[in-house]
Amino acid sequence: MKVSKLLMPTLREVPAEAEIPSHQLMLRAGLMRKAATGVYSYLPLGVKTLQNVEKIIRDVMNEHGAQELLMPAILPKEILEESGRWEVFGPEMFRLKDRNNRDYCLGPTHEEMFTITVRDEVRSYKNLPLTLYQIQTKYRDERRPRFGVMRSREFIMKDAYSFDLNEEGLDESYKNMYDAYCEIFNRMKMDFTIVDADSGAMGGSGSQEFMVKSSVGEDTIAYCENCGYAANDEKMPGVPMECECPEGDLPMEKIHTPNVKTIDDLTSLFKCKSTLFVKTIIYKADNKAVAVMIRGDREINEVKLQNYLGCLELEMADPMTVTEVTGAAVGFAGPVGIKCDLLMDCEVEKMKNFIIGANETDYHYKNVQIGRDFTPTAVLDLIRVKDGDICPKCGGKIATAQGIEVGHIFKLGTKYSKALGCTCLDETGGEKTIIMGCYGIGVNRCIAAIVEQNADENGIVWPVKIAPYKVIVVPVKMDDEVQAKLAEEIYEKFRKMGVDVLMDDRFERPGVKFKDADLIGIPVRITVGKRAEEGIVEYKLRTEKNSVDMAVGDAIKACMDYIEAK
Ligand code: ATP
Ligand code: MG
Repeated sequence: MKVSKLLMPTLREVPAEAEIPSHQLMLRAGLMRKAATGVYSYLPLGVKTLQNVEKIIRDVMNEHGAQELLMPAILPKEILEESGRWEVFGPEMFRLKDRNNRDYCLGPTHEEMFTITVRDEVRSYKNLPLTLYQIQTKYRDERRPRFGVMRSREFIMKDAYSFDLNEEGLDESYKNMYDAYCEIFNRMKMDFTIVDADSGAMGGSGSQEFMVKSSVGEDTIAYCENCGYAANDEKMPGVPMECECPEGDLPMEKIHTPNVKTIDDLTSLFKCKSTLFVKTIIYKADNKAVAVMIRGDREINEVKLQNYLGCLELEMADPMTVTEVTGAAVGFAGPVGIKCDLLMDCEVEKMKNFIIGANETDYHYKNVQIGRDFTPTAVLDLIRVKDGDICPKCGGKIATAQGIEVGHIFKLGTKYSKALGCTCLDETGGEKTIIMGCYGIGVNRCIAAIVEQNADENGIVWPVKIAPYKVIVVPVKMDDEVQAKLAEEIYEKFRKMGVDVLMDDRFERPGVKFKDADLIGIPVRITVGKRAEEGIVEYKLRTEKNSVDMAVGDAIKACMDYIEAK
């Protein structure tokens, strides 16, 4: 492709709308443009990049025996009603009506469609196991679309679903996809971590996420510095720390604490550490109030809480509800005499003589004891782990890091097959519910994650397999006949060998051309300059600072070797 003909609108300025490097660079390099919030168009360089990512995914999925299908984006209400998800999805799902007033949605995911397909087309165990996949557009009206295609409202997903007769079959299919994902992300040259993930309230038996560590990641990975065990912090079990409270059985005392509402206020008033306090937070779970007790320095893990409660909606209670159940203003909630269910984190169970709200405006209790002064409805793990916590596997020290979730594998079990009647006949002629797994990769999010991991101050540094073009030939002066001719010859040689090659044939200053070549991240640059007459060109890798003078033939060979090796 000649750059003069290519729709490659690079930008010098950093677009104001873009907060993170990948979003800025994907706009600046002319890969994409925003059409609406969380909705993007891909321009030629973006499309080629997407196709390269999709090719890696397709190749590996096919190598692992998965078969490609293509499902519609428009899904009728009925099939999501059968699984109960028409309600569950809530406002995240784009809903629409046809001219006859029938309800549809734009598919946010496709478990139902694949389950129905297998239900209707597969009768016998002889057709199993089966892993089906598609690369298709998903629609989710995200609460906070942001960071460009990292979290968008229309995005491309590779979603796969496995169908097995029994649990052992599922384990094998799951392992097969686990291996496929490792291969896919390795081919993309991603530096990734696999973490245990939450399986949801009624979720299946196992789930793992493929994470790219990055400061812009929206997920938190908790990992053990000793044994390497890693989990999404939504999932990581909390290990209660030893209590630092005063010993003995001290009498409960009511203390006047006017306007002291936060843990910070309390620590300065009582002049002691936040670990001696317990917070009581009131939530509304599907409109029912529930109180949660947690040590003063801790944060509640709402995923653990929601899984335990099995509710659809969970939110902090409004001030009126707080007053209804505590009898006090916000900031003074406590367990003694509270009028709702009371969940207590395991760590609090180890505490005694702690300080907590008195359910009376402007008062706290001191020296509170569990059992003596109140009894919780349930005790369970409710904390969000933090740096320095104890590893549940080996007792080592936990650290946390931000991560981008690029892929997710999940043992669904019979959740969808049961709801949608997806069965088949087993060896004995009996009807058996099929056991499923599901496996997703965010295709555009992969591109953003790759850019986050492969960029410098001059632009993107594409891994060779992902790069929209592998090599760019840059004549320094297009109006120099010798240079233009030699550049053209090199360009043609690459084309004949089937290499994706660009030639920057614009009558621009060399500085402009070099800047663009760096910005769009082409792995190899061959510059045809002053020494064209001698048949010498400059060979430069995007990953290197300096170029090397080489004879034309050597430069072409070096380039071919480089792109082959990658
Ligand atoms: P997240 O927690 O980031 O919202 P999810 O758990 O909703 O992700 P899945 O339903 O498991 O995601 O989808 C599979 C993959 O699709 C994810 O691993 C992610 O890479 C990608 N993905 C999900 N939502 C988006 C989005 N809004 N924009 C881009 N990619 C997405
Ligand atoms: Mg999501």
